[in-house]
Amino acid sequence: MLHQLRTHPEFVEDCFGCKAATVHLANGQIRAWAHANDKELDSYATARKQGIQPRSTKAKDINAAVKLSDKAGYAVKAR
Ligand SMILES: [Zn+2]
Repeated sequence: MLHQLRTHPEFVEDCFGCKAATVHLANGQIRAWAHANDKELDSYATARKQGIQPRSTKAKDINAAVKLSDKAGYAVKAR
């Protein structure tokens, strides 16, 4: 699992991250969060490739920058 990959390879009984990851619901939430995060970074990279500079890597800011660029007809760079 992600926590163990990032923090330590084996299950540690007293570790909060390990315990949280073994709870099914928490595990699903972490996976959903990681997935959303990947998506945001993907759209950020796509926007940057088009010359657009979003204010941040958040989907909200990326979408705003892409929409603004579509309207303006050129790649908008956030200051
Ligand atoms: Zn742990």
